[in-house]
Amino acid sequence: MEKLISCCGLNCANCDARIATINNDNELRTKTAATWKVQYGADITPEMINCTGCREAGVKFAHCAECEIRNCVKSKGFETCADCEKLENCEITKDIHQYLPEALLNLKSLN
Ligand code: SF4
Ligand code: SF4
Repeated sequence: MEKLISCCGLNCANCDARIATINNDNELRTKTAATWKVQYGADITPEMINCTGCREAGVKFAHCAECEIRNCVKSKGFETCADCEKLENCEITKDIHQYLPEALLNLKSLN
């Protein structure tokens, strides 16, 4: 379970992209793409909904593969931002943790 907390603190276990991927569920891929398209204002197609999780081996959703937070965590040799002394005053994670405070709580629960 711990490994399903992403670098930034999201719970990949609850992510529809991961659930659709591990179940090869095309209906959920279509639904998730439509939801994310509106939510993120980006051109997201069902074919793009493939991800095994931020810290799991395997395919990544496009954004997660090039995520600045994930790249920062990896470059520092950390597991997640929970390993970083800047956790609570990081300019890179500031926006996501403001928007999704549960992600910060998930990270704190790892320490
Ligand atoms: S890394 Fe993948 S499974 Fe985790 S939140 Fe991002 S899209 Fe979902
Ligand atoms: S600097 Fe920010 S993004 Fe990078 S590991 Fe630390 S908390 Fe995470």
